[in-house]
Amino acid sequence: MRNVFILHSSMKYSEVNKVETYEGFCVKCRKKVTIKDAKVVTLKNNRKAVKGVCPHCGTTVYRFLGKA
Ligand SMILES: [Zn+2]
Repeated sequence: MRNVFILHSSMKYSEVNKVETYEGFCVKCRKKVTIKDAKVVTLKNNRKAVKGVCPHCGTTVYRFLGKA
């Protein structure tokens, strides 16, 4: 007996959480954290970064964005 499963490439599961999350490196926790209250900011040198706080210790965490 054979069971054949056909997987459709169009199959999608809906994402419940659509809030954009960014990960950054917290220097205090010394690990990657999910940035809380993340905001995209533009720096003086015209580069963009995400600024927020570490959910564990409250330290300001920056995450530089590669593409402008
Ligand atoms: Zn931290």
